[in-house]
Amino acid sequence: MIYPWQHQVWDGLQRRLVSLPHALLIQGPQGVGKLALAEHLAQSLLCEAEDRRKAPCGACDGCRWFLAGSHPDFRRVEPEALARRLAVGDDEEAPAEGPASTRKPSNEIRIEQVRGLDGFLNHQSHRGGRRVALVHPAEAMNVHAANALLKSLEEPPGSAAFILVSHRAARLAATIRSRCVTVPVGIPPLESARDWLAGEKISEPERWLAYASGAPLKALADAQDAGPVIASLRQALQGRDLEALGAVNDREGLEALAEALQKYALDRAFASFSGRGKYGAAKPSEHGLAWLRFAREMGRSRQLARHPLNPRLFAGEMLAGMPED
Ligand SMILES: [Zn+2]
Repeated sequence: MIYPWQHQVWDGLQRRLVSLPHALLIQGPQGVGKLALAEHLAQSLLCEAEDRRKAPCGACDGCRWFLAGSHPDFRRVEPEALARRLAVGDDEEAPAEGPASTRKPSNEIRIEQVRGLDGFLNHQSHRGGRRVALVHPAEAMNVHAANALLKSLEEPPGSAAFILVSHRAARLAATIRSRCVTVPVGIPPLESARDWLAGEKISEPERWLAYASGAPLKALADAQDAGPVIASLRQALQGRDLEALGAVNDREGLEALAEALQKYALDRAFASFSGRGKYGAAKPSEHGLAWLRFAREMGRSRQLARHPLNPRLFAGEMLAGMPED
């Protein structure tokens, strides 16, 4: 599945499906659907429809296996922590499965994971077509993993296709970037993003898009996750009422609150200095500098919010530091 704003970039890829280079780097900001595009491309490379213009057909064996997550010629390489979050629905309290799983899952792509590709890529494909490796997010490769991947990129087995996805491509080794053909995916036109969000039943889509700097998937996640927190924040701001922060009783709520406060403060600071806010229609303040300092403070709180002693107390402290007006 691709998003409505991706049709143009997809058409370009689809037309060249049989002659695509062996390594592509799909890069762009977070929250614009790069992973969905990469998966769509992987499915198309594995699709067995005779008419390539119809790939991915969604109906052949190749497509069905891919969609079921069990295509033998497809490998996904991603940090253990990410794979686990997707598997357990982001529940950190999920019970450990045994002594081995008490180790903290890694946020890096490690060399063993990349080496694991070697055997996969060098064998004949199960279905006689391509073998596809999707590396996501590519910047999560540590230096050893990147060096190992570089070897495969330099001497790719005949049927191998590499799809790298990155929102911090500058962090990738230049040697890796230079061996990939870049597919840029940018911020979509406002109208397209707004219509899509409205279709997802998000009210005030333009406001959420502004918060997410125009990235629609980030806007959707913010609206769904941070919506209740921001609503309680607005209430709390109006009455300086800490009780209204009742929703903030866990780390995730706290992080969202810190982010919301940071954006609100930046908005007030921008409005004070320039007469117009970045994230919405904020009221200018005489205390622009104080709002700017508070915004910086909230940036730090966003990091600390992951390990607070007491979420309610921490939320109260954050609010206590907020400029008066
Ligand atoms: Zn198909």
